[in-house]
Amino acid sequence: MIILMKRNATEGQIDHVTAWVESVGYHTHLSRGVERTIIGAIGDDRGKTQLKSAEYLPGVEKIVPILKPYKLASREFREENTQIRVGEAVVGGPKFVVMAGPCTVESEEQLLESAYIARKGGADILRGGAFKPRTSPYSFQGMEKEGLKLLKKVRERTGLPVVTEVMSPADVDLVEEYSDILQVGARNVQNFALLKKVGKARKPVLLKRGMMTTIEELLMSAEYILAEGNEEVILCERGIRTFETATRNTLDISAVPVLKELTHLPVIVDPSHASGHAKYVIPLCRAAVAVGADGVIVEMHPEPEKAVCDGPQSLRPESFYELMEEIRRLSSFMNNGMGVRS
Ligand code: PEP
Ligand code: MN
Repeated sequence: MIILMKRNATEGQIDHVTAWVESVGYHTHLSRGVERTIIGAIGDDRGKTQLKSAEYLPGVEKIVPILKPYKLASREFREENTQIRVGEAVVGGPKFVVMAGPCTVESEEQLLESAYIARKGGADILRGGAFKPRTSPYSFQGMEKEGLKLLKKVRERTGLPVVTEVMSPADVDLVEEYSDILQVGARNVQNFALLKKVGKARKPVLLKRGMMTTIEELLMSAEYILAEGNEEVILCERGIRTFETATRNTLDISAVPVLKELTHLPVIVDPSHASGHAKYVIPLCRAAVAVGADGVIVEMHPEPEKAVCDGPQSLRPESFYELMEEIRRLSSFMNNGMGVRS
């Protein structure tokens, strides 16, 4: 249920309603919009009848049930887009955000070089995995803590915030210490213990859609994080499994407008893991800008042929610069010419 406060409701009335809702056994989540405050009452259905009497409390306009299974993630709960600040960038704001870097951290030189290329091209955030989810146990598993230390070092040298993956609840505190955004990868989208743990972290979470999860399941996973108190969740469409084999996965571009309708959370696109080929990354990024995504996360490597992981889908520096130029031109056209992004 959500409790819509009147436009002129006082702080005292908001506090009173919050305390009352909690006294009948619900958790509360406050959403302070430009126009009015909404109090989300989260709990099981048994107290529903009692909760309805909140309608008579001073300052309350009305009580509205949220029909969707996800509550805090829904547009009904928060009308305005959620904006997440990371360093100088705002994910979900007016500017299209670019996260770029290698699939995995390999060495200080490789990461530093990638960061210089990312910064020179105008990327906002550096990506690089330290814990790698690999299909084969014999593949390189990541530099782990050493990789995290390099990410921190490179961030200090270049000023670029970093996003890196966390795969286990036991590693969340460690990764949180070193990273600006915690990535929950496609394979862990329904690792509920991990979702709950990152929900307690004080860093934004980049939640990737699984290759076999529906949009609703993705939003339910986001709900796990929000319900633990972390309001900063960035959703990522990274391709799903279909019968098509020409690309590594199939980029579900329609997931972007669907998510934009259903949720207030920012939505970005990963064309690298979606397609598996560097040559498709630029066209798919164009699609991401045009469809109204808030940004992209792309794999880029100083020397893709030497990459330890995901080389074939990693952009070379020249292609990355070309991509950044295209994104600048296309998003300025979208902002000024068509006014689609708001
Ligand atoms: C990655 O970002 O390198 C990665 C493993 O992505 P995904 O979880 O989407 O496969
Ligand atoms: Mn990768």
